[in-house]
Amino acid sequence: MTLSTPRRTKIIATLGPATDKPGMLEKILAAGVDLVRLNFSHGAAADHQRRVHAVRDIANTLGREIGVIADLQGPKIRIAKFAAQKITLTTGAPFTLDSAYSKTEGTETIVGIDYTDLPRDVRSDDILLLDDGRLSLKVTDVKGTQIHTEVIVGGELSNNKGINRQGGGLSAAALTDKDKADLITAVELGADYIAISFVRSADDMHLARELIQAAGGKASVIAKMERTEAIADMDSIITASDAVMVARGDLGVEIGDAELPSVQKAMIQKCRALDKAVITATQMMETMITNAIPTRAEVFDVANAVLDGTDAVMLSAETASGNHPDKVVMAMANICLGAEKNRDTQVSKHRVECTFKQVDEAIAMATMYLANHFAIKAIIALTESGLTPLLMSRIRSGIPIYAISRHVSTCRKMSLYRGVYPIHFDILQVVSAEDIPQTAAHILKEKNFVAKDDHVILTRGELLGVRGTTDSMRIIKVDGDHPSAY
Ligand code: PGA
Ligand code: MN
Repeated sequence: MTLSTPRRTKIIATLGPATDKPGMLEKILAAGVDLVRLNFSHGAAADHQRRVHAVRDIANTLGREIGVIADLQGPKIRIAKFAAQKITLTTGAPFTLDSAYSKTEGTETIVGIDYTDLPRDVRSDDILLLDDGRLSLKVTDVKGTQIHTEVIVGGELSNNKGINRQGGGLSAAALTDKDKADLITAVELGADYIAISFVRSADDMHLARELIQAAGGKASVIAKMERTEAIADMDSIITASDAVMVARGDLGVEIGDAELPSVQKAMIQKCRALDKAVITATQMMETMITNAIPTRAEVFDVANAVLDGTDAVMLSAETASGNHPDKVVMAMANICLGAEKNRDTQVSKHRVECTFKQVDEAIAMATMYLANHFAIKAIIALTESGLTPLLMSRIRSGIPIYAISRHVSTCRKMSLYRGVYPIHFDILQVVSAEDIPQTAAHILKEKNFVAKDDHVILTRGELLGVRGTTDSMRIIKVDGDHPSAY
């Protein structure tokens, strides 16, 4: 019997204290997490290391390839601490941020800040947003190390909350010294992706790649789009990256939440057009940090990201520190499956009019056209680098793309791509070239993904084992018995 259509949209779960509880990691991976995210804003290197080892162990037991994303903190600007740990800001009252002030003795009128350039970056009448925009301050005057403000929206304010400037424009470089050290840790951990926070320009991504290479790593790079400037420079940042994160938390604070839905749609579309993967992140299932079911608005938010064409949806505090990490993954998986029934997610007019630039792109596009216009059960792509499956997955389709690779690192990277199911297998080790098509089909048949007499499309390169050489596609009918050595 053939299994029902697998979920195409991938789920990323952030690890943290809640997933450290006994048995929880097993539960969330079994519930369908495709990639895990290590948040380098919290925890020590040893915590990340322990979690990666646990993930690799469980993934082995489950026989699945789980990608690991190391998310670097970036130049998040924060207030220092209060003597009383938290204070209340009154609307209309004066409040001072001072980079020379004590880092532990904040009061209702003044607090320290860690980023010494902030007084140089802001001017009178700027709006500063605290704690993801819950509180706001208007700058009245800047003197030396002190930023004098008037509280516009008050409320409770506790230690180390983030500061954003409305409209963006803060000068801090994307990679801090801590990020550079964490990047080396991430490489040592064998992270599949490294996410760069508060990216300003393509140069930040080039630098990240150089640092990864210098550290001897092979990780792909993700640009977190969370600055106003990054939106203006979207095309070149996307082009310089392997994947992009629509980081709605900080981005929403900088550009205003009302702008976010349009920006999310434009960004997802642009990533797909430029052959990059894209992640939709932050507050997707926020109320499930405490509640056992999502709100209907959250159901729609996740579903809309799926309809927009995102590769993956991401959970942050919901899994890292929430009460129901396993339930939130299950709920999210269901919402994705529901949204994927929408016909708009399965058909594509994309690239009908265009001319292809490379052989592998032409094969990938022809495969998807065929898959969407003929009774094809599955696509099997034999791949070295994962590029052909990535290109295929830029086209909307309901047909699963099983990507067989002998490289575990390629498999883990492909765990991010929508509709792509990585299978780690070295086909050339077991069969001769002419037996490959039926052997590949047999691997799927054994897993109940296809049945006898189903049609599948196989893509491969003449030079199997060499990257970027996919140059052929053929339709094969799955045999009943497969006598090969496999
Ligand atoms: P963060 O990034 O969770 O690391 O801040 C995501 C976002 O800002 O949305
Ligand atoms: Mn952020």
